[in-house]
Amino acid sequence: MTFTGKNVLVTGGSRSIGAEICKVLASYGLKVWINYRSKPEIADALKSEIESQGGKAAVVCFDATDEEGFSNAIKAIIESDGELGYLVNNAGITNDKLAIRMSTQDFMSVIDANLKSAFIGARESLKVMSKQRFGSVVNISSIVGEKGNAGQTNYAASKGGMIAMTKSFAYEGAPRNIRFNCVTPGFIRTDMTEVLKDEIKDMYIKNIPLARFGEAKEVANAVAFLLSDEASYITGEVLKVNGGLYM
Ligand code: NDP
Repeated sequence: MTFTGKNVLVTGGSRSIGAEICKVLASYGLKVWINYRSKPEIADALKSEIESQGGKAAVVCFDATDEEGFSNAIKAIIESDGELGYLVNNAGITNDKLAIRMSTQDFMSVIDANLKSAFIGARESLKVMSKQRFGSVVNISSIVGEKGNAGQTNYAASKGGMIAMTKSFAYEGAPRNIRFNCVTPGFIRTDMTEVLKDEIKDMYIKNIPLARFGEAKEVANAVAFLLSDEASYITGEVLKVNGGLYM
C-alpha cells in the first residue's frame, strides 16, 4: 500500500488495537504519533519497538476528551512535521450496564470518551487538512454501533453516532480531498474483551461464521487500507471487520 501523507496520529495508540494500528502504519513508512493519556512507559516501549524495526514514531500525551489538549497536540505535530496526513480516532471505553440501571452519567461518560473525542479530532484535523487540500481520517466504531447490544446502550449510541458523524464529515471534507471512513470491528482479542467471562466468549464464538475472535492486526490492516492511496475513491464508508458476525 502507498501513502501520500507522511505522518499519522493514533488516539489511544499505546496498547491493544491502537498499538497494532501504529505498528502496521509505521511498517508502511509513516511517522506514527502515539497518543496516550496515562502510562508513558507503555507508549515509550512501543516507540522503541517501532524504531528498532526501522520505523519512525513519537509519543504525545493528552486525554482525547480534552478539546484544548487534542488541538494543542495537532498544532505540535504540524509545527514538528509541517503536516498532519492522517488521523485514527481509536480511543474508546465501555461502561456496560442494563439501561434501567444506567445513570445519565454512565451514559454520558461513554459518549464523551468515544463520540465527543472523535468529533474533536475530526474537526481539528479537517481544519488543518483543509489547508493541505489532503488528508484521511478513520474512526474506529464497532459492530455494536450497527446492530445494538443489550447492556451497551451508551456504547451503541456512541459508536452508531460515530458512523453517522463520519458520513457527515465525509461530505464536508470531500471538496478539499479529505476522506473520512469508519471501521466496525466485531469481537477482537484485546484488553477490552479479555474481561468477558469464558462462557460469554464461547457463546459469541458460536455465532461468528469464522468461529473465532479477530486479532488487533486484522483491524489495523483494514485501517491502513482505508487511509492509503489505494482507497482514494472511498469516503463515508463503513468497513466491517467482524468474521461475518454481522453482514
Ligand atoms: P482497550 O481498552 O484495550 O484500549 C483502549 C485505548 O484507548 C487505551 O489505549 C486507552 O488508554 C485509550 N483511551 C481510552 N479513553 C481515552 C481518552 N479519553 N483519551 C486517550 N486515550 C483513551 O480497547 P481496544 O483496543 O479493544 O479498542 C480500541 C477501539 O476499538 C475502541 O474505540 C473500541 O471501542 C473499539 N472496538 C474494540 C472492539 C474489541 O473487540 N476489542 C470491538 C469493536 C470496537 P489508557 O491506556 O490510558 O486506558
